[in-house]
Amino acid sequence: MTSTDSAPTPALVWFRDDLRVRDNPALRAALAHGPTLALYVLDEESPGIRPLGGAARWWLHHALEDLRASLGRLGVPLVLRRGPAGAVVPDVAAKARAGYVAWNRRYGGPERRADTAVKSLLRRAGREAESFQASLLHEPWDVVTQQGTGYKVFTPFWKELSGRDHRHPLPIPRPQREAPETVPAGDDLDAWALLPRDPDWSGPLAEAWTPGEEAGLALLRDFVGPDTADTAVALYPDERDLPDRAGTSRLSPYLRWGHVSPFQVWHAVADRRRAAPEGSAVFASELGWREFAWHTLYHHADLASENLRREFDAYPWWLPHTPRGGAHDAGRGGAHDAGRGGAHGAPPAVVLGDREANRLLDAWRRGRTGFPMVDAGQRELWATGWMHNRVRMVSASLLVKNLGIHWRLGERWFWDTLVDADPASNPFNWQWVAGSGADAAPFFRVFNPRTQQKKFDPHGAYARAWIPELGTDEYPDECVDLGESRAEALEAYRSLSEAQGRGQGRRRA
Ligand SMILES: Cc1cc2nc3c(=O)[nH]c(=O)nc-3n(C[C@H](O)[C@H](O)[C@H](O)COP(=O)(O)OP(=O)(O)OC[C@H]3O[C@@H](n4cnc5c(N)ncnc54)[C@H](O)[C@@H]3O)c2cc1C
Repeated sequence: MTSTDSAPTPALVWFRDDLRVRDNPALRAALAHGPTLALYVLDEESPGIRPLGGAARWWLHHALEDLRASLGRLGVPLVLRRGPAGAVVPDVAAKARAGYVAWNRRYGGPERRADTAVKSLLRRAGREAESFQASLLHEPWDVVTQQGTGYKVFTPFWKELSGRDHRHPLPIPRPQREAPETVPAGDDLDAWALLPRDPDWSGPLAEAWTPGEEAGLALLRDFVGPDTADTAVALYPDERDLPDRAGTSRLSPYLRWGHVSPFQVWHAVADRRRAAPEGSAVFASELGWREFAWHTLYHHADLASENLRREFDAYPWWLPHTPRGGAHDAGRGGAHDAGRGGAHGAPPAVVLGDREANRLLDAWRRGRTGFPMVDAGQRELWATGWMHNRVRMVSASLLVKNLGIHWRLGERWFWDTLVDADPASNPFNWQWVAGSGADAAPFFRVFNPRTQQKKFDPHGAYARAWIPELGTDEYPDECVDLGESRAEALEAYRSLSEAQGRGQGRRRA
């Protein structure tokens, strides 16, 4: 948009979960409009927005430093502001006299509501506002069944999506010649206190990760490697389930924060189809699960708080009676979403005593269940903010099926401790493991952590790497009888299905 005196008006690009300068359509559009200024808003106040967990806050701090440096090389200043987006974005746009504001779309319910409100406020103030697709290969409203609904089953979803063309990544923009004249004052990043203090537990996270765009692209390059048959992507089908190997890409936090885009990943892997046909196809389908989770969130905004299959509302999982029950006490100290948990509706029937449940939950969180694969995973998570996918499944299954604890408590722990904690993938996968979700694992599929260890960590290398006291008296006994607890879970599920059947029978009668 240009002003009447023909000088281009300034443009504002609002960064969110797209902290990169390459393949960023909103940034390119802003730069094409005029002297560009960038904005990041730490919004913990808009209705329904879920505050970040502790590990995610650590990541965000470093990610914003990285973004500021990359934007600086393009001559684009970055303004940081804290507050509700509906107040902050129009205010910064007005102060910068921006005629054009651009951003890349988000897909969670509260985020979409906030974005719609911002768009109409900007337009009412006479500013042009435009949004772009950058975080998903295809828009959720474009990939629907013949009935116009979102897919509930992965295979037809992926068949439809993978058969489509996905645009090629956009190059890095040229540095702008002219910076905007007015750059409104912003917050000091340190004043946001995203980094942990007292205690500072972030040392091992910093050893494990370098947040930012260059680091994400380097991981992607390493993973796809040259066009030969001995690369990580070629070995992916054989190695991806072995937690002691570097068999997966570890791109999840970089995709979560948008340091790399799904288009960059898709095309980098597609370019290896010749040398690694199976690996590139299996890996691409994992990217497909990410899309499926986001599409599911788009259609079910309450994915983190409600069972997708509502019959599971009657399953007797344990939940604390108060929203801030014992589940929070040992957290990272990030901003927990205390409004969820037991606060929503009446808690289901309690089969575990509260004290016993809290003891088991605590043992699970601290990696002291007595099942080495689970304990190694929980300790890896606590130390590095990441856990291998196979171990996530085994650990989640133990919590919800053998320990009888609600998936929402596990989801909340992961939300607080994962650097890739994602509003779609996290609740989606918890519900998948619990059996209550989209295309979920059948409830009777209860992972046996001992068998899983024999299969995927046969020499115990992963377990030993994270549990120094393994094999000594200091390592706890198994906290639950696997056979008995499995039978109890299946019995509870059988009663649920029978009650459901009776209910349906009555409705039909
Ligand atoms: C209980 C549970 C909770 C999870 N929570 C999250 C989460 O908060 N954020 C998150 O990104 N992933 C989550 N996952 C999915 C998966 O565990 C991680 O994406 C994966 O371990 C990341 O490692 P990677 O990047 O090396 O994966 P790779 O095997 O290299 O896969 C490549 C990419 O595909 C995507 N992907 C792979 N598996 C899945 C999956 N099952 N669902 C969605 N996307 C997938 C990720 O973006 C990943 O980076 C969860 C899984 C479980 C079982």
